[in-house]
Parts: sequence; C-alpha cells; structure tokens
Amino acid sequence: MTVEANKETLGFQTEVKHLLHLMIHSLYSNKEIFLRELISNGSDAADKLRFEALSNDSLYEGDSELKVRLEFDKDAKTISIIDNGIGMTREEVQEHIGTIAKSGTKQFFEKLTGDQVKDSELIGQFGVGFYSAFIVADKVTLTTRKAGASEAVRWESAGEGEYTLESVDKASRGTEITLHLKDGEEEFLDGFRLRSIVKKFSDHIAIPVVMDNEIPAETDDDGNETAPARVEEETVNSASALWKMSKEDISDEEYNEFYKHVGHDFQDPLVHVHSKVEGTNEYTLLLYVPARAPFDLWDRDAKHGVKLYIKKVFITDDAEQLMPRYLRFIRGVIDADSLPLNVSREILQQSKQIATIKGGAVKKVLGLLDNLANTDAEKYAEFWTTFGNVIKEGPIEDAKNKDRVAKLLRFASTHTDSEKQDVSLADYVSRMKEEQDKIYYVTADSFSAAKSSPHLEIFRKKGIEVLLLSDRVDEWLVSSLTEFDGKHLQSVAKGDLDLDKLDTEEEKKEQEEVNKDFESVMKQIKEVLGDKVNEVKVSHRLTASPACLVTGDYDMSLNMERIMKEAGQDMSMMGMGGSKPTLEINPSHAIVEAIKNEQDDDRFADITNILFDQAILSEGGQLDDPAAFVHKLNGLLQSLLK
Ligand code: ADP
Repeated sequence: MTVEANKETLGFQTEVKHLLHLMIHSLYSNKEIFLRELISNGSDAADKLRFEALSNDSLYEGDSELKVRLEFDKDAKTISIIDNGIGMTREEVQEHIGTIAKSGTKQFFEKLTGDQVKDSELIGQFGVGFYSAFIVADKVTLTTRKAGASEAVRWESAGEGEYTLESVDKASRGTEITLHLKDGEEEFLDGFRLRSIVKKFSDHIAIPVVMDNEIPAETDDDGNETAPARVEEETVNSASALWKMSKEDISDEEYNEFYKHVGHDFQDPLVHVHSKVEGTNEYTLLLYVPARAPFDLWDRDAKHGVKLYIKKVFITDDAEQLMPRYLRFIRGVIDADSLPLNVSREILQQSKQIATIKGGAVKKVLGLLDNLANTDAEKYAEFWTTFGNVIKEGPIEDAKNKDRVAKLLRFASTHTDSEKQDVSLADYVSRMKEEQDKIYYVTADSFSAAKSSPHLEIFRKKGIEVLLLSDRVDEWLVSSLTEFDGKHLQSVAKGDLDLDKLDTEEEKKEQEEVNKDFESVMKQIKEVLGDKVNEVKVSHRLTASPACLVTGDYDMSLNMERIMKEAGQDMSMMGMGGSKPTLEINPSHAIVEAIKNEQDDDRFADITNILFDQAILSEGGQLDDPAAFVHKLNGLLQSLLK
C-alpha cells in the first residue's frame, strides 16, 4: 500500500482480478448490459436511502427526488451514471468495490472451465454488477458520499489488479460513476443509443432515469432567434414500478427485463406469477422462477431473492421471512399495502401480517409450479432438473404445505428404470395394483445401487413399481413425507412388506413349508453372526440374491446410517445405533441350499459371514472390516482351485 496525501493504492482481491479478466473477455457480446447493472445499483441505492430516511428525514439533505442521471461527454469519451441514493463510506467502498464478499465465491471459481461460452453463462449466474463497467471502459472512476456524512471518497481503477482511494469533496450525496470508454466503444457516446438501452433494460425500475435533452434554438421564418437553445432534463424510462401495473398492460418482454433487474440474471426466467391479493391484508406480488440455478443455490444461508416493498418503498431483501428455504431460488418483489411504512426490520420479523403474506406467497408459488407441471411438461422437466433437489426439502421444512409440495415431486422408478426423475406420486398411484395399498421406494447412495438393490427382486417379479431414490436429500424427504393420497410410503428395505396380500393361497402354503424346512439353518446362521444381526429369517423377497438386510419399520435405514456416519455423526451417541438389521436369506439360492448340508463348521461360518458382508455391499454399504472379507473369500476361492 502506498499512501500519498490521503491517496492509497490497494490491490484487488485475487478473485476480483480473475473475475474482471473473465468478464471482459466472455461478456463482450453482451456488452450493453453494463448500463443495466450500474443503473440497477443506483436504483438499489435509492431504495436503501428511502428506507433509511423513513426514520431520519435529514438524510435527504433537502433533496428527496431520487433518480439516476445518465451523462456522456463525446470529447472526453466518458459516460457517467450518477445517483443521489445512499452512497458509500470509504470502508464500504473498500469492502464492496474491490472484494467479492459473496459467500460461495470460491466454489464459483472452482466451477469455471476456461471455456468462454460456458464460463460466460456461469458469470451470469454469479451476478457481476459493478465490474461489468470494465467490459467497455479501460478506466472507471467512482466518487461517492454517504448520505449524512461529510467526507467523500474517490475510487479509481484501470481494472488491472490495483485501485486507488482518496478523500475528495463532493457536494451532492450519492454515487457518481464515470466510465472512460475503450477505443472502439464510441457507439455509447450517443444519446439515442443510450436512451434505447435504458428503455430496453431499465424501463420499469421504480425510479426515473434522466438524461439531458438538447432543444435547439427556435427561429422565425426570417431566421431570427425567438427562443434560445436550451437543455431540458428528460425522464427516459417509464419509472413505474412494474408490479403495480395491471397484467394486461405488461408485455412478456417487460416482465423478462424486470426479472433480469431483480434477479441479477442474464437469461429470461422460466415462469412468473403476478397477482394482487385484496382484503384486509393487501399485497401485490411478482415472483419469478429462474431458468437456471444461481451460483449459490446450495448455500442455504445465502441472501434470498425476494424483495419486500411497502407501498413501493423498498424495505428489505433479507427476506427469509418471505420465502422458505426450499423456495430460495424464487426471485421478485412483494409489495405490502396494508403495512405501516415506519416499521423497522426487527418489527417486521415478528409481524403477523408478514407471516400471512408469506403464507399466501408460498401458496402462489406452489400453485404456479403445479400449474406448470400440468400444462408444460417439458418446462417442468427443465425446472425439476435444476431445482428438484431443493424442492425435496419442502416436506421437511414446510409441514403445512406438505401435500402441495408432494404433488410437485418427481422420482425415478422401476416403471422405466431410467435415471430421469419424471414419475410423480400421482402417476405411481394410478399404476398401483388393485390389492396394493402402499407406495414402495428404495433408497441408496447412487442410482445404479438403487436400481440393482436385491430388495427389488420380489417387486420386479410381481410387477409392482418401486421408486428409486438416490439423492442425498431423499432420506430426509421420506422421513417427513410418510403418506400421499392416503397411501403409506414404505421402504422396500424395511420391516414387513405386507406383500402376502398379493400371494396366492398356494404360494403361502409353500412359504410356510420352506420356513419350517430352513428353521434350523437360520438358527445356526444367527449363532455365527451373533449380535451383528437382530434376527435371521427366510426371505420371500429375494429371487436372485442369496441374502439381504432389512431394518425395522422405525429404525434408521442403512443408507441413512451411512450418510450420518459420513457426516461425522456418531449414532451411538444419539441413541440410534442400538437397532440391528435382520438378515433375510433366500432359500432357493444355490449357495443357501449348499450350506444347509455343510458339515464343516468353519466353512459354514466363513460362508455365512461372506453372505452377511455381501448383503451390506450390494446395498452400497461399507464393511467394518473389508480385509477380513477379502481374506475369507480368498480362502474359499483357494479351496475351489485345489
Ligand atoms: P451486487 O449489486 O450484485 O451486490 P455489485 O458488484 O454491483 O454487486 O455491487 C456490490 C455492492 O456495492 C452493492 O451490493 C452495494 O452495496 C455497493 N454499491 C454498488 N453500487 C452502488 C451505488 N451506486 N450506490 C451505493 N452502493 C453501491
């Protein structure tokens, strides 16, 4: 850092350097978006000031007409974006402009591939904001004074690793950003071009974007000047909060552009819902489902994307209160008419009205998605691929809307055996067998493990569909979603399957005989395995595999146990490790038939242990002592080769 009379030179955070480089190269084909980003920032700054001023009028400093001004200077080759919003202190400039404080930034950079086309899409998800100025500028000067403060600061950078900060005087509050255009970017030094970009991208932000309009001198027929040339300030955009307009007056394009402003996205959204709710608690909402995931989708604590306004005054975008976490990808605006304007953010958190509005908004979003599922399967599939795993958190987080969310869920199933998650619970129910009263599923830690689970054998034989669940969240999902349409969700690896209803009398009799026939072998096996298992019994669910493990109806599934173990949770500490699985043995399997007549106790024990370990492995589980398994197996192989 060099300091020279209040001027310091600082280095950009490494990520910023990286981002700048990428942006300049990969966003070039979309370069005019810099204007939307900078005007958006000015508009946000105005929103913030208006909110602060609710409790401290003096922040307006006598100027409460908030706006963004756009200027250009052909000779100097500059464009300036000037707002009279909240402004920034020196510390804030340093924090916001020069570092990227967003959580998840590191993961974002790890995702970059070096492929320009792909990376430019990613960069859109990231939301580039201020730095987009460097797409067209080779030097950017930002001068800002925080509302109510006396000191102003100037930030300047050529976007190449360093920036300077110095204290300056600035009479007016707010932020002025001057872009020194690169050679070749002169097209932006044109009032007509700038106006059309503003109309296109920023028409419906709530504050005016103004430009000077030069009106030429008026002359009479004889050439005498009757009115001198003058300059008039003109509002370029509609400056009407889009959400307050009636639907019929809004075009698709206007909806989409507004989304890009509130959603900090480059792409059109997938769908939106725009609705005014009347009654004692009046509010308007305009909510969007993005077409792709924001970069921080998996950061469950990331700032949420719905902004709360009260009578067009921005209140907060820390709107955890407005959308539950499983809808954290939703973007847009909720404007409450019946809340008092002078509320503090703290009071809002406990407001019953806000809770009611949130309840209503969530229902609207769920309704929107349900409608999409029913009317546009292709778009819904796209939605599910992007956000399905987040929606699956719904039944866990939002018990009240469990049924509504359940309708939105999609799974892979043995109906198609494809990894694609496109089977709804309603589809499943419609295909259930007449005597079947449960919805069956299997959980595993990969699709292929789920698909080839030994537990499925009997279901495949009987032609009963099973949902194949292999996403991490699925275990939690099925622990909260236990019923759909009056039908119990049943794990095929748990408890009694209750399939005997589907068996014929003859089959039942046969099973009883087999049970008896194998009674003593089962006892012997249990003796070998000791307390590794709760019970050993004859299985009627296996056709091809020799053995499988079954857990009790109320016990943690083996897959869940594995997930918890990986997460470092000690089950015995939680009082959950006590339950042991039951080993089920397939009586018609050749190995089982063979050990029934095995005379050598050691060989019997080895084979039994191998069967037990195999049952764990075939579900994708991990052995406590893999070396012992390998040792026993090799012993057997050697005896074969003798
Ligand atoms: P984003 O807008 O997505 O947060 P930016 O890089 O555009 O990202 O801006 C970073 C931060 O800098 C903003 O969140 C805001 O706090 C601050 N900022 C940017 N422009 C302005 C402005 N015109 N007035 C006040 N603060 C600003």
